[in-house]
Amino acid sequence: RRRERQIKHLLRERLPRKLFDFLVQVGELARDKGVNVYCVGGFVRDILLHLPNFDVDFVVEGDAIAFARAMARTFGGRVREHRKFKTAVVVLESGEKIDVATARLEYYEYPAALPTVELSSIKMDLFRRDFTINALAVQVNPDQFGRLVDFFGGQKDIKNKTIRVLHSLSFVEDPTRIIRAIRFAQRFGFSIGGQTERLIKNAVELNIFHKLSGSRIFHEIRLMLAENKPVACLKEMARFNLLKAIHPMLTMDPAKQQILEEIEKVVAWYRLLYLEPSPCPWLVYLLGLCAGFNDAQVQVLVRRLNLTKKQACLLTSLRHSIRKAIEDLFRWEQGKQATSELFFILEPLALEGVLYLMARSRKESMRKHISLFLTQLRTQTIDITGKDLQALGIASGPIYGQILRAVTAAKLDNDSLSREEQLRMAREMAARSR
Ligand code: ATP
Repeated sequence: RRRERQIKHLLRERLPRKLFDFLVQVGELARDKGVNVYCVGGFVRDILLHLPNFDVDFVVEGDAIAFARAMARTFGGRVREHRKFKTAVVVLESGEKIDVATARLEYYEYPAALPTVELSSIKMDLFRRDFTINALAVQVNPDQFGRLVDFFGGQKDIKNKTIRVLHSLSFVEDPTRIIRAIRFAQRFGFSIGGQTERLIKNAVELNIFHKLSGSRIFHEIRLMLAENKPVACLKEMARFNLLKAIHPMLTMDPAKQQILEEIEKVVAWYRLLYLEPSPCPWLVYLLGLCAGFNDAQVQVLVRRLNLTKKQACLLTSLRHSIRKAIEDLFRWEQGKQATSELFFILEPLALEGVLYLMARSRKESMRKHISLFLTQLRTQTIDITGKDLQALGIASGPIYGQILRAVTAAKLDNDSLSREEQLRMAREMAARSR
C-alpha cells in the first residue's frame, strides 16, 4: 500500500536554499503545464538518509521533453533530447545537468470495444527500479509539494538498513543489479535482505552473468570501484561467487586481497590530499586484479569486460611502464638516489600507475619517496621557459627539450637554484651543443 508522508520540512532543512527554491519553481512550472512532476531515485533516498546529494532527477507524468524545454526557457539553458527514451537532459547555464524522464506507461484495458488507455504513471516508473530505497519519489507541484510517494516500503527499508528488490524476477531482468546491491549495501552500511540474498544466489546459480554483456558489467564494476570501500564490495562479490561468474580468472585469494587492500589505502590517502588530477580508481584496482597475470590473460579479461580500445590501451601500456619503473626504482635505490632521477622514473607514468607502485612497495622508504613525488616533485616547476631560450637566441630544436629537462633535474636536486643560474645553465648547454 502506498505510504505517503510530507517531507517539505526535510527538503527545506537539508537542501541548500537555492536548490530548495529551484524545486519550488519547477513545481510551479509543472502546475502551469498541467503535469505532475517528481524528484526520484538517489536524491530522495539521500535526503531521507541525511546525506548530501544535490543531483536531482525529475520524472514527469506526461511529456518530459516538452517539460524539459519549458525548464530551459524558464531557468536558462539548453536541452539534449533522447526521443527514443522520452527523456531529456537540461543543461543549465551553470553547466549543471538535470535529467528529466517521462514516467513509464501504464495500460488500462477497458472491456468491449473501448481502446486501451495509456497513462504515464509514477507508480510504473518506480516499479521498474532496482531497490525499494531507490524507488521513492517526492512530488513538487505546489499543491502537493513535498509529498513522498512510497509504494514499495522504501522508507521502512531505509529505517531497517536493508537493500531489497521490488520483485522476485528483478535480478533475472537485470543481473547488474546484483553488483548495485552490493555497492549500496557497502556504501550505506546496509545489509542485503534475506529474500533478496536468496534471489542473488539463485541468479548466480542460473549463471545469468554468462549472457550479460561485458560493457554493462564493467559499467557497474567501475561505479563500485569508485566507492570508498571497494575491497569490501569485491569480497562480497567473491562470497556470492560473482567474480568467478564474470570470469573464472577473477579470483580473490589472500594474496590478491592484500594487494587490493593496499591499493585501497593508497587511493584513500591520495583522495584525502585533494590533489589534482583525481585518479580513475578502476584503473588502479584493475592493475591489482591483474597482478600476476600474463599479457594474454589480461587480454582475456579486457575482452570479457569489453573495455574500450582506449581503456585497454591504458591498462596494457601502464602494465609495461610499471614493469620498467620497478626495475628503475630498484636501481635507483641501490645508487645515489638523486631526487631528479626519481622524478624522471615516475614522471612518465600515469597517476594510476604511481599509486599502484606505491601500494605494491613493501619498503616504507620507497613509499615515502613515491609520496614525495606525488605531493611535491610532480608539480615543481622551473623558472625558465622556451620563450627564455628564444630570447637567448638559441635555435629551436630538440635542444629545447634537453635544456629544460636538465634544468628541471638541476632544480630538483638543488631547490635554491635561481633563475639566473638556470639561464646560465641553458646558455652553457646551448654553447656546448654548437
Ligand atoms: P548514486 O548515488 O550512486 O548516483 P543513484 O541511485 O543516483 O546513486 P544512478 O546509477 O544514478 O544511482 O541511478 C539513478 C536511479 O536509477 C537509481 O536510484 C535507480 O532508481 C535507477 N536505476 C539505476 N540503475 C538501475 C538498474 N540497473 N535497474 C533499475 N533501476 C536502476
